[in-house]
Amino acid sequence: MNYLEERILAEGIVKPGNVLKVDAFLNHQLDIGLLRWMGAEWKRRFAGRPINKILTIEASGIGLAVAAAEQFEVPAVFAKKGESINIDGDVYRAEIESFTRQNKSQVIVSKRFLGPDDHLLIVDDFLANGCALQGLLAICAQAGATVEGIGIAIEKGFQPGGQIIRNLGCRLESLAIVDAMSAETGRIVFRPQG
Ligand code: 5GP
Repeated sequence: MNYLEERILAEGIVKPGNVLKVDAFLNHQLDIGLLRWMGAEWKRRFAGRPINKILTIEASGIGLAVAAAEQFEVPAVFAKKGESINIDGDVYRAEIESFTRQNKSQVIVSKRFLGPDDHLLIVDDFLANGCALQGLLAICAQAGATVEGIGIAIEKGFQPGGQIIRNLGCRLESLAIVDAMSAETGRIVFRPQG
């Protein structure tokens, strides 16, 4: 079992509706040592890829993107949700359906920070149905950028996102894959990783 899996077992809480709560260390309070471990793990798994930028989506992805950016020694860009008066000029846009909030929102990235010369590692905290990633991939396609890989902290393997993204031919590295979980018993089962 790896460090992230250990932390999920120790501090993760399974909520009804297939939601895993990890706010004690990943998306409310942030454990910097764990973030550093995840950044280093993606660096190891994507070694040799010509990654020049990390892309994520606000807000929960930002800590992960910073940890990855530090390891790869490249900038991190996060897609912003909704219109922002602080963004001027042209933007790439995609519509994303939120798994946890169950609403749709526009995400935007300024054209100043993404373009055809970019080779990206996309990171995010969770992969459930794959909507957030598909939105980010649509933005990369608009920019003409190359997606070198996708790094996810926690993939819920019993939801379809992982299969959808792998079927697109993307190299996807999830640091923990939950194959089953129960809100009644609190049991969490991980997919064995090599
Ligand atoms: P997807 O777009 O793949 O359906 O869902 C991914 C997004 O929904 C992630 O960015 C994450 O913020 C949120 N999410 C999905 N499942 C969970 C979950 O079980 N727990 C938490 N905390 N967030 C989740």
